[in-house]
Amino acid sequence: LIREINEALVLDQLRLNSPIARSTIANRTGLSPATITGITAKLSQAGIISEISLGASAGGRPPRLLAVNPSGGHAVGVRLGDDHLMVATVDLVGEVIMSESIPWKSGSPAEAVEVLADIVKRFDVTGSQLLGLGVAVSGSVDHRAGLVRYSGTLDWKDVPLREMLFDRLGIPVVIDRYVNAMAASLALFGKQHSDQDLIVINVGPSLGVSLVQGGRIMRGAGGAAGGLAHTSVSMSSDRGRQCHCGATGCLETVASEWGMLREIKRLTGQRMTIAAAVRRSQTDLFVAGVLRRGAQALGRAVANLAKVLDPHQVVVGGDGTQMGESFAGPFETTFHKSCRHGAGHDFDLAFVTFDEVSWARGAGCQVLASLFSVE
Ligand SMILES: [Zn+2]
Repeated sequence: LIREINEALVLDQLRLNSPIARSTIANRTGLSPATITGITAKLSQAGIISEISLGASAGGRPPRLLAVNPSGGHAVGVRLGDDHLMVATVDLVGEVIMSESIPWKSGSPAEAVEVLADIVKRFDVTGSQLLGLGVAVSGSVDHRAGLVRYSGTLDWKDVPLREMLFDRLGIPVVIDRYVNAMAASLALFGKQHSDQDLIVINVGPSLGVSLVQGGRIMRGAGGAAGGLAHTSVSMSSDRGRQCHCGATGCLETVASEWGMLREIKRLTGQRMTIAAAVRRSQTDLFVAGVLRRGAQALGRAVANLAKVLDPHQVVVGGDGTQMGESFAGPFETTFHKSCRHGAGHDFDLAFVTFDEVSWARGAGCQVLASLFSVE
């Protein structure tokens, strides 16, 4: 285990600071030069790292610099959607080598395993070592146990997906929630975000929150960290709306697409998509009000979380960014206003465009994460 930890420490320095000299890695990790030499020789032999160029000389012999070798391995990432799969093969530095959107009809877990096994076969084409498969699933996922606890989109409950895929494929498999795939893609190889403390919010049919500390996703003691969606936002005077989790008054009932569309249906009697609701909000005060109140509730809740965690940045992405000004505007205003009150300072808020390939890339990056840290 100590050898594994030391290897991960060295690789993490290479991930963050390539190209880097052996002596700098030794200084930053506290490992002895002999240990660094041993580990880098082994990683170099395995093709995971390579010597790339000569660094500036400090008078004597110029140091030889090391970097992660992009083609030293690859991972396949898949985002399981309700009517299609997005697949991406990523290299060792998280760059997408190939990607494809594949139509599918969500069926039983056993059917999904067969589809995923075919995909891995088809996307394992780089000639380098396949390090594993990452799968991003909507719903509640126990990452450590590799279990899909509940997915409304897939209509699955307590599915041991990691074990099923491992039995079928014999390669490492990582299962996680959508938002953690999004966070992994930002935190591991995002130039701007690597090594930072982040709060990552996915505004979609459900609300997803990922907490990133020093570039690593915080899991919590029970693996459920980030459960902001099911924190209570109702007042005692208002008994709160019933949530799909069984509780009442959750943020999810007010600020997720599911919650807002349900409220729009209650007020107008009409079922609509979120895109239709955004269009309708231009002329319908009821619809505009639902979106505005949802955005404001989310802004306050995220500001509360930022005050507790004091991150470098709050990143908002997912389908919510498609909601445009009718949601993003009131969210941003309420967030900054709530932060300034009492906290002492405002927080950096960024909206990111998260396309389908990015989700699949994130799922692939989750596999690579195991190279850089030992859980
Ligand atoms: Zn709830």
